[in-house]
Amino acid sequence: MNFLSFIFGDANKRYIENLEPTIKRIGDFDFEFEKLSDNELKEMTQNFKDRFKKGETLNDILPEAFALVREAAKRTLNMRHFDVQLMGGIVLHQGKIAAEMRTGEGKTLAATLPAYLNALNSRGVHIITVNDYLSRRDAVWMGQIYDLLGITVGCINHESAFLYDSKYGQHQDREKEKILDRTRDSIGNFRVVEDYLRPASRKDAYDADILYGTNNEFGFDYLKDNMAYDAGQMVQRGHYFAIVDEIDSILIDEARTPLIISAPDEESAVMYDQFAKIVPRLKENIDFNVDEKMRAIALTDEGITDVEKILGIKNIYDPDLGATGLRYVHHLEQALRAQILFKKDRDYVVKDGEVIIVDEFTGRLMPGRRYSEGLHQAIEAKENVRVQKESRTLATITFQNYFRMYEKLSGMTGTAATSAEEFYKVYKLDVITLPTNKQMLRVDLRDQIFQSETGKFQAVVREIKKRAKEGQPVLVGTVSIEKNEQLSDLLRKEGILHEVLNAKNHEREAEIIAQAGKIEAVTIATNMAGRGVDIILGGNPQNEEDAKKVRELGGLFVIGTERHEARRIDNQLRGRAGRQGDSGSSQFFISLEDDLMRIFGSEKIKNLMARLGVPENQPIENSMVSRAIESAQSKIEGYHFDSRNYVLKYDEVMSKHRDAIYRLRKEILISENLKEKNMAMAKEELNRIITTHTFKGDCSQWNIEEMFEDMKVIFGADIEDLIGKLREIRDNDIVSDLEKMDMMLALLAVRAQEIYEAKENQYGHKLLLQAERMIMLRTIDMFWVAHLENMEHLRDSVRLRAYGQHDPLVEYKNEGHRLYQELTSAIQNHTVHSMFRIHIESAPAGALADKPNLIEKQSKENNAIAITANKNLDLGRNDPCWCGSGIKFKKCHGA
Ligand code: ADP
Ligand code: MG
Repeated sequence: MNFLSFIFGDANKRYIENLEPTIKRIGDFDFEFEKLSDNELKEMTQNFKDRFKKGETLNDILPEAFALVREAAKRTLNMRHFDVQLMGGIVLHQGKIAAEMRTGEGKTLAATLPAYLNALNSRGVHIITVNDYLSRRDAVWMGQIYDLLGITVGCINHESAFLYDSKYGQHQDREKEKILDRTRDSIGNFRVVEDYLRPASRKDAYDADILYGTNNEFGFDYLKDNMAYDAGQMVQRGHYFAIVDEIDSILIDEARTPLIISAPDEESAVMYDQFAKIVPRLKENIDFNVDEKMRAIALTDEGITDVEKILGIKNIYDPDLGATGLRYVHHLEQALRAQILFKKDRDYVVKDGEVIIVDEFTGRLMPGRRYSEGLHQAIEAKENVRVQKESRTLATITFQNYFRMYEKLSGMTGTAATSAEEFYKVYKLDVITLPTNKQMLRVDLRDQIFQSETGKFQAVVREIKKRAKEGQPVLVGTVSIEKNEQLSDLLRKEGILHEVLNAKNHEREAEIIAQAGKIEAVTIATNMAGRGVDIILGGNPQNEEDAKKVRELGGLFVIGTERHEARRIDNQLRGRAGRQGDSGSSQFFISLEDDLMRIFGSEKIKNLMARLGVPENQPIENSMVSRAIESAQSKIEGYHFDSRNYVLKYDEVMSKHRDAIYRLRKEILISENLKEKNMAMAKEELNRIITTHTFKGDCSQWNIEEMFEDMKVIFGADIEDLIGKLREIRDNDIVSDLEKMDMMLALLAVRAQEIYEAKENQYGHKLLLQAERMIMLRTIDMFWVAHLENMEHLRDSVRLRAYGQHDPLVEYKNEGHRLYQELTSAIQNHTVHSMFRIHIESAPAGALADKPNLIEKQSKENNAIAITANKNLDLGRNDPCWCGSGIKFKKCHGA
């Protein structure tokens, strides 16, 4: 399938026609299911599950399952899925598709079909809504259907999670009200907050068969799961099938801002300064050895002891110090490199209080570029200039990459067609446009174009006044809160009663927008306010009389006060009118002073308007102007597409790194035996040390003493007796150099294993495992966070640097790959160095075993982390530290 053929060809039509036999088969079950009792309906679910286990596919079961859901909806909500909703359901089930179903066609109900069908294999279906309110509304509303069929439903919100429970809450006494859909009140509003949703743990919510929640919640939970220090902390159980409601809004409009979990980094700057002062006290060849050619420095055993003394700690590798200890080592290393290996005016210059790198080949200054892994900060500390501190990104992902993890992804929206290209290119999603249930009667009136904004608003007010006087409900969309208030002032002056909608209170928003179809109602809303909420003509589903009156007045009249940057959003606004075959109309009022026209419109138009000499408050109708607007919009759409694509392309590089690191992390988190992994790492590390010291000249020049020093940093006194053997191997006349290297490696590897096993005997498998796990996870996290920073710097730097013919993205990929390799070797290096120095002597058996409790507590508190800004999850000062220490952030890394 190809997106072009869908827009321009008959493919869409053929696709829809091909669904018809299935629709008929679904209908054939009607009669049979109607006769079943509620209990028998529920038993059908078990029957389907059994059949699935015996090898039938979901596609085989589809017609019956859909018919069952239809019957359940009829009984619980008094809504019987329309045929077009069945079609929508099939399309969604197939995945890889964005289904375009007009506003008001009942996408919420359509989604129950694929959700139920896919829930039969118990792997979890996620339904993504645009806000928390809608996730609760849909869980409660549709929950009645699932509940009748014995399928569990959950809902995750910011800071809370729920399970659908028909017995929960105060609603019992309302049953007298004789309303079939018990989740609505007598005027048709949903009552969803306190009833039907029983508070539950996040984990339990994720274990439900079907789970409703926003993209932010799903995304953040994914990131948080990958920051967990205990397998029990994780809440998600995989990414099987996601149905994204308002998919364009989530995958396109919100896609430019990635999700970020961050914490202010107070500590680093201080640490850099601290270590810049420690290093001058250390002595070369005693505390550390320098290899100028390799540009490498290694601390000796003695050096470590000296630093421990200066810092006043007993053992820098103490697992209880955790990430803090590792960070000490890391800072120490960087301070050493900064002071010993990097020379001012050769490697860098200091200018205006900034450290600027000198390109080693060209000698050019490279402002804006920074050394990675904190080296730059270490040099800043050394040179006594301000150490740059930032909030540290602990974890980040774009929505594109989050949703690509799902085995099956599909979505629905009223407006997908104009973004078909993007859906296809970015998500491999085809767009299928479904027919409407009833014929669409909405009339889209021709744009009214004004020279000035003032003139435009005067006309808008006049129009509202005229319509409102007749009683026709009017909904006005504005692009910003500011414009929204401006218009509200004008209306007030004219004495026109109206509701204003721009807050972020989705609950109230929903109520107001639901009433926007009442007689005489005037509602001014920012374009996105109250999205997803149905506008019922007359304002009440039970009041047919009012609905009829409004219909006679022409239904809802929608006014757009400015064209939006994307045509899609304009269409969403128009779609507020004329739902489900209602009458209704829409019209846009535009001025040449609108941002869109000011920035993207052409000079020619402006001149033309001036020459025509049209008065300010008189509209003009000019096809040239109309075309200019369309072309400005498609220009901007293209521009945004490019910018999203840019974010995406760059994130793709990171995404591979993230996948690999998170996979490793998870493996460690759930593994019951880390010995093999540890031994493999130790061996590689030993191999690296041996290679480093045997790499030049023939074997007579091998510096066994230095090599041994490096090994001792890992193993300490436990290998004291081996130096003689290493010398013997070097001086052996019979074997080749390569064989010697192998023999050395084998010798040390055996010893490493013995040391490990001795520790295992000493502490017991369980305790050692916990300590290992902590060390590894903390090591990974520390370097991963640094890596995120490095990649960010890299991204900035490739953009800043002029590459001539080079594509910055290619540069980013290559450099990024190098950084990634550095990351993995740094993780290995630090893990091995810490592992063999584990002493749990200070912790009597059980102390480490207590940690899970700490973590348990932490995970509960974690749910209270505040989301600031829109997509940034900041760790608060009283939140548990991200490093997993169980200590408050302000006392740990935030101190
Ligand atoms: P959308 O999300 O497509 O804009 P909604 O899911 O909010 O639409 O539903 C719009 C309205 O249509 C709701 O009031 C709902 O009750 C009604 N509706 C949907 N499907 C049916 C149906 N099969 N029978 C009767 N009413 C329906
Ligand atoms: Mg909807």
